Amino acid sequence: MQFPLETEALVVETPGEEFKLTPIIIEELRPDEVLVEMSYSGICHTDFLLQKGLLGGLIEYPAIAGHEGAGYIRALGAEVQDKSLNVGDPVLLSFTCCGTCEPCKENRRSRCDVFPFINLTARRWPDKSSATKLADGRAVGSHYFGQSSFARVSAVQERCVVKCAYPDDMAIYAPMGCGYQTGAGTVLNILKPRPYQTVAIFGVGSVGFAALMAAAALPVKSIIAIDVVERKLSLAKDLGATHTINPSDAETQLSVVERIKEATGGRGADFAIDTTGIPSVMEQMLDCLAPGGTAASVGVPPPVDISVNVGAFFLGTKNWVTVTEGDSYAPDFIPQLIDLHRQGKFPVERICKVYPVAEMEQAISEMESGVVIKPIIQF
Ligand SMILES: [Zn+2]
Ligand SMILES: [Zn+2]
Repeated sequence: MQFPLETEALVVETPGEEFKLTPIIIEELRPDEVLVEMSYSGICHTDFLLQKGLLGGLIEYPAIAGHEGAGYIRALGAEVQDKSLNVGDPVLLSFTCCGTCEPCKENRRSRCDVFPFINLTARRWPDKSSATKLADGRAVGSHYFGQSSFARVSAVQERCVVKCAYPDDMAIYAPMGCGYQTGAGTVLNILKPRPYQTVAIFGVGSVGFAALMAAAALPVKSIIAIDVVERKLSLAKDLGATHTINPSDAETQLSVVERIKEATGGRGADFAIDTTGIPSVMEQMLDCLAPGGTAASVGVPPPVDISVNVGAFFLGTKNWVTVTEGDSYAPDFIPQLIDLHRQGKFPVERICKVYPVAEMEQAISEMESGVVIKPIIQF
């Protein structure tokens, strides 16, 4: 492979501007990087945080988003550690980590000491360099979550790469590396509900659906899906929700928390997951817990205070955890989820739709209106 290499990517020029397919140049492949030709990339809400400038000044623009890539290895850096990787291998991409801090050494990658800097700055860590530039010579942020997968070809950090044993299903597996493992990992790696327990899921976008499908793959007593989009709730019922609650339902005077209590014989939910990051929804998540219950915040909230009755929380021996990327070690967890899918227990094909890269804006608008849960772009 010859460098510099000319290709194209969906570049965000300044915060608030659209993703625009733009010629870029990859200057070099570092020894710990893998060159991946993308076939697909899922679109995740965290990509909009980059596009809209909502990452608190972490990003220098222009920059390339995308962190649910799937494609083929086209070149390997000279010091890539994983000797099982070969040019031509189909791979799925997940987040990256430093590899040297104590959590990383224990494969607890989502707890990496420098997680926000290494994943959310769209630069290499720690030298803050970029792999790509525009035709006019300006640097373009690459390495978003170590990969910047909204590109036809990308220099990817080695720790992002997970081999995909089923290349024919690469399109539907692309979001394994973020959205799907985030929701499923919260249930399977952190909450681990038992057969007599109840799981309430606030917000059924792709993370909420992944949590729902993972819970439905287990023996659990009931699964309550809460969302304002009726279409999503009927799909949630199809995929295993035993109860659905639409907070904008005008036919009842009961609050969402009262309806969850009603659905659980007055106890409340043993587990509640918030995928929305909306402060008022997070309060409902904490209020709806049964004694001994655990709330898991998965959606990224704004930096604000919320109200919690700590006395009631303490006396109920309740817990509140935050979970990033489902606490997943992607090289093990993604193949586990793929196995579940192949057993028919994690039917991701029911929630995704593939769009050509030229239809990026349509994919985004159908995601925002709830017509499609997980859009995937095809290069
Ligand atoms: Zn994501
Ligand atoms: Zn680390």
